[in-house]
Amino acid sequence: MRTDYTIVSKPDYINVECPHCGENVRIPFDQVDFESDYWGDGGWCICPECKKDIELGDYEYD
Ligand SMILES: [Zn+2]
Repeated sequence: MRTDYTIVSKPDYINVECPHCGENVRIPFDQVDFESDYWGDGGWCICPECKKDIELGDYEYD
């Protein structure tokens, strides 16, 4: 008998254009502070280029 299964992929990093310096930066997923377990609630990370806080809004899953 066959049974259905789920492939779970762990997010690796996010890409975001920093609103402060305009750089397109890549942030490791474990360095992003999400408001909750639901990513759509937004979160915060620090721009590696200008070291300012970036507030995250909606996301796209790639
Ligand atoms: Zn920046």
